[in-house]
Amino acid sequence: MKHALRLTIRPALVAASVFAAGSLWAQEWTTTTDTHRFMEVRNGIWLTQTTAQVFNSNALVIVNDEDVVIVDSHVTPSKARDLIASIPAITDKPVTALINSHYHWDHAHGNQEFADIPIIGHDYTRMKMATGAHEEPTYLRGLAGNAATLERLAGEIEAAEDDEEREGLEAYRAMFAAHAADFDEIVPLPPDVTMNEKMTLFRGGREIQVIFLGRAHTGGDVVVYFPQDKLVFTGDILFGGPSFLGDGYVDDWPQTLENLKALDFDIVVPGHGPPMTDLSPIEKSQDYYRALWERTAAKHAAGVSVEEAIETIDMSDTGFRNPSDVEVQRMYHRLENPD
Ligand SMILES: [Zn+2]
Repeated sequence: MKHALRLTIRPALVAASVFAAGSLWAQEWTTTTDTHRFMEVRNGIWLTQTTAQVFNSNALVIVNDEDVVIVDSHVTPSKARDLIASIPAITDKPVTALINSHYHWDHAHGNQEFADIPIIGHDYTRMKMATGAHEEPTYLRGLAGNAATLERLAGEIEAAEDDEEREGLEAYRAMFAAHAADFDEIVPLPPDVTMNEKMTLFRGGREIQVIFLGRAHTGGDVVVYFPQDKLVFTGDILFGGPSFLGDGYVDDWPQTLENLKALDFDIVVPGHGPPMTDLSPIEKSQDYYRALWERTAAKHAAGVSVEEAIETIDMSDTGFRNPSDVEVQRMYHRLENPD
């Protein structure tokens, strides 16, 4: 069983460091079901995560005076059904709307389970989900990651040193294989209520603002802002460290975070990992993205090939990771196709 811990969550879309700061909040999970854990971050605004040892995203369950609004639908229809089935553990009010922070599969491919209520998202999110979502490179990398995990597990099972270890690995593989098979069920369902800059939901005494602050992690990320509770759900535009940049706009990102700073809040719920009351990652992220863009642009201007740039861009002085191959390719694409 000693191997079971290290093979758990292999995040495909965010830096592993995102998960490192979780201990402060580990004790704050107050409600659990067979599939989910819940934490009331502020005044009826609940963070929930699947307890399954698979890569998945945070969802918010916003319990209002009369109804419930959800933010992000998880990674597969199966995980979304688990979420829906778990909501009665915290409220019996009806779910009346879903908001998508962005189009990525790990946040939006449970959407089809919410087909009977309005799904709110940015125009860009609708465009990305309505056209070729099954061929979209980041989604295909997710599928490839599933296949790679299963292959790695097969090798680890073969190399297991005793029955206990082998049984632990086999149980994990059975769970993961079922999860990977759940992807076959996905029929991407785009938002059917779209916005470009801002929309506000008034639900009883609560105001829920859906705001596009500028391009960052994708071309259409929105944040969900609760002015009365000074809380903002940032999706994947802000973590403790760098986000996944492979569909990103690193050149625009610092300004988008500057726009975030103009909101009045003192707690952030990111798209993965625990809430953050330390807001210093905002400026650290701005500094990192500025430096990364400058260094990449300098390589490009000097005629350095993308292959060589992947090998040589060094961010170690920032305390954060170097960009991956797809991230450097994306920045080169942006430099060659500015808009
Ligand atoms: Zn994402």
